Amino acid sequence: MEDIISLAKRRGFVYPASEIYGGLSNAWDYGPLGTILKNNIKNEFIRFFTILRDDIVLLDSAIIQNPLVWKASGHIEHFTDPLTDCLSCKKRYRADQLIEDTLSTNVEGLSTEDMTKIIEENNIKCPECGGKLTKVSFFNLMFVTHIGPIEDVTNIAFLRPETAQGIFTNFLNITKSTRVNLPFGVLQIGKAFRNEITAGNFIFRTLEFEQMEIEYFVDPKDSDKAFEELFEYNSRWYDHIGIKKENIKYVELSDTERAHYSKKTIDIYFKFPFGFKELQSFANRSDYDLRKHSEYSSKDLVIFDEKSKKNIYPYVIEPSIGLDRLFLALLINGFCIEDVSGEERIVLKLSHRISPYQVAIFPLVGKGESLNLSRRIYDDLKLKFRCIYDMGGSIGKRYRRQDEIGTPKCITIDPKSLEDNMVTIRDRDTMKQDRVKIDKLSEYLNQCFI
Ligand code: ATP
Repeated sequence: MEDIISLAKRRGFVYPASEIYGGLSNAWDYGPLGTILKNNIKNEFIRFFTILRDDIVLLDSAIIQNPLVWKASGHIEHFTDPLTDCLSCKKRYRADQLIEDTLSTNVEGLSTEDMTKIIEENNIKCPECGGKLTKVSFFNLMFVTHIGPIEDVTNIAFLRPETAQGIFTNFLNITKSTRVNLPFGVLQIGKAFRNEITAGNFIFRTLEFEQMEIEYFVDPKDSDKAFEELFEYNSRWYDHIGIKKENIKYVELSDTERAHYSKKTIDIYFKFPFGFKELQSFANRSDYDLRKHSEYSSKDLVIFDEKSKKNIYPYVIEPSIGLDRLFLALLINGFCIEDVSGEERIVLKLSHRISPYQVAIFPLVGKGESLNLSRRIYDDLKLKFRCIYDMGGSIGKRYRRQDEIGTPKCITIDPKSLEDNMVTIRDRDTMKQDRVKIDKLSEYLNQCFI
């Protein structure tokens, strides 16, 4: 993890937020390369789930909604985490995580009394100082704000803790303004905010983060089949962006572990350096949300089903993933330290589908015709691929820089290129070099980036 955090800062992926003021717990900023990587992940996610299929549409709803949304969804009452404090050093912990880390048991769904009992019976103490822990109590994770100049209960508002509810509240708008029919999905990517109190393990758990959520609406009688199909497609997403199979684990939640309205939930875990932890949750949320919003808004959130000629409340299958957590998973998944003839080589093996750059172009000579040729190649390739032009330092240093930021192909233009119209292309992972004709470069790269 130290290596990843250091690489992320050194190369401009992620910086500590407000660092010049001492930082802020669980808050991070994305640097120039991190911003590109994040955008690439989002764009590829949208391409994979909307363009490569025909049944999912997009939405971008507001972060601050009418507070009734959160009452209907149950967030005001139930969106809580169990807390326990150390009586000696006053450090605060999430009781569920503490129990999970100490005993390797999942306590999802247990009451505060049960968690207190587990802590007492197993003699779990403060990991920091060994002090006694308080009884477990719940606290709400939503950030509260006020609309307008006066802060009172009448103008309270919440920063959304998830993007999903904006999809449910727009259900009628979407079904009426587009030609969707069951089954169909709505995909939304956007910021969510949670008042997290535990140390975050870099960007794994942060106060604000981006979620990529899909609500896939289906006829209730088809929901088991739709779950399986979408789950299978969703698993392909991980292959698509190069996540290694051995880094992923699927954990189906038992009846007592999953939310009361969920018919089935599978959590997708990734092997982080601090253990296998949730990366994505994948649930059949039944018609719970649409019915709750119908009840609170007095609008029937139903769709007319052409087949049965009836209005129905669809069930919803929800894959929900944190973009920042996926970003971290991709850094970990791709990070390698190799030994090359006794020298250390740090490589970030990112898929070409998401790497900040796909091609780096290195002119070997900094002047004259060779430089003009390099510029021409760069100007042409940047219209088709994500390219970077780098003329700083020795060729070895340039390779090292690009290896560390995950650029799959580096092209070197040398004085000989002027004579034979060929350039050298070096592969990041194998370090093999090919000599390729300049007029065949696009074709060659297209083959590499299928
Ligand atoms: P956790 O148990 O880790 O707190 P959760 O079960 O509360 O997560 P969900 O509400 O299911 O998470 O949210 C869906 C996804 O959003 C998670 O799988 C995770 O990838 C991401 N996520 C949730 N909370 C955070 C956070 N504080 N920081 C970054 N990503 C988060």
